[in-house]
Amino acid sequence: MAKKAAAFILVSLPVTGHLPVTIELAKRLMNHDRRVKNITILSWRLPFTSPSSSYSDALSRSHPDIDLVDLPEIEDPPPLDLYTRVAEAYIYRYIIKALPVLREIISALVSSYHASGSVHVVGLVLDFFSNPLIDVGDDLNIPSYILLTCSAGFLGLMKYLSERHRRVASEFDDRSCHELLSIPGFDRSVPVNVMPPRLFQKDSHEAYVKLAERFKDAKGILVNTFTDLEPHAIDYFSREENYPPVYVVGPVVNLENRPNPNIDPVEHDMIMRWLDEQHESSVVFFCFGSKGVLDSMQVKEIALGLESCGCRFLWSIRTNPMKDVKPYDLLPDGFMGRVTGRGVVCGWAPQVEVLSHKAVGGFVSHCGWNSILESLWFGVPIATWPMYAEQHLNAFTMTKELGLAVELRLDYVSGHGSVVIAEEISRAVRSVMNGGDSRREKVKEMAGLARKALMDGGSSFSAVSTFLRELLAVDPSS
Ligand code: UDP
Repeated sequence: MAKKAAAFILVSLPVTGHLPVTIELAKRLMNHDRRVKNITILSWRLPFTSPSSSYSDALSRSHPDIDLVDLPEIEDPPPLDLYTRVAEAYIYRYIIKALPVLREIISALVSSYHASGSVHVVGLVLDFFSNPLIDVGDDLNIPSYILLTCSAGFLGLMKYLSERHRRVASEFDDRSCHELLSIPGFDRSVPVNVMPPRLFQKDSHEAYVKLAERFKDAKGILVNTFTDLEPHAIDYFSREENYPPVYVVGPVVNLENRPNPNIDPVEHDMIMRWLDEQHESSVVFFCFGSKGVLDSMQVKEIALGLESCGCRFLWSIRTNPMKDVKPYDLLPDGFMGRVTGRGVVCGWAPQVEVLSHKAVGGFVSHCGWNSILESLWFGVPIATWPMYAEQHLNAFTMTKELGLAVELRLDYVSGHGSVVIAEEISRAVRSVMNGGDSRREKVKEMAGLARKALMDGGSSFSAVSTFLRELLAVDPSS
């Protein structure tokens, strides 16, 4: 057993899909074992993201032994237009450029911990995009773990991608063909049109492959899922000997203290008051994550769909951060008048509070993995409308593999000119709100299993115990 107290260094992108999960994991590690005394979370600086100060203020009050530190901006970053065109390629290049500076920062941090004589840094925990820092861990003789804020199915895709790259050294070339892929961990063959759209673009495909290839170099992979949710994928990785051990530690969901600079406190109170006045399970919630910006034609079709289905709704509209447009500016003329009393339109929504509200009975979601875990946690069924990143694969898992969601669409790609028409939208809303109790029951059952996984003795609780036991068993003072 380690005689010294243990410290971790975690590295995360400053985005809503990654940083809150990293913070929650840090809290969980610390609460799990008293030997974990200090954690530093290093957060990248990226264009269009705010410094992490709102999170660090909240953390310093609740967990003073967790430091959240913004990394300095690097000199000569990649061109900004690359970020707006292909964020994955930008982030990969940014991180590779930042490696020398990061090596210095992490090495100084480790030295300062060790100088105290009583604390030893036992591990680096890196989010998906930060995994090139495995090299820094190796230099400093500190084991590196990857924290995957996506599904175990996505981990299967990463393994598939690095293997495919040895056979086919190019991006995927035709989204409309009917090719079926055999992806590790999936029970069914996976259609090529649910691959992340950026795998069809040369520079982002390259970034994905480079990141996928580093997974095998990690000492272990922590995945934000739970055994009852993805049994096939988890079983696959538990038997796979030529891959690092996988620790299934989820759901890691950020349920409290969710500071967000985008939230408008007046709108927040108005939404919650309005929900309080609605009947149980009567409201459908539309929200497409942090980047689900829709064009005006698509906004119009959603408005028409909501008008015709007659259902009560809360609709969070994302607008382009580079343009000064408010959600209401995008709505068709007279829309709010026609739906008075039965619908609310807002900007950034307090999603977790909304999903936990008894008035909410269905969720039309872009299927970001955090949104899926949050909706399952509160037992709210989803209608799938994936748009970008790995959301199509998540939607496929939820509809075809698990039968937990209604399929609104699996193949829509934002920014490619396709439009989902009002009729499809209202049909899916009716189905998710009224479509038989068996799916709702299944989702509620999954909510129970998610909670059970985190209880003392549950599968994810035990995985955290194993992870810490293995790390803390190495006596740094010997
Ligand atoms: N979120 C929110 N309000 C919004 C949009 C998103 O609170 O209006 C939160 C949501 O609860 C989730 C995160 O932002 O925790 C989005 O993560 P996800 O993985 O679902 O999607 P991403 O934004 O990464 O595409």
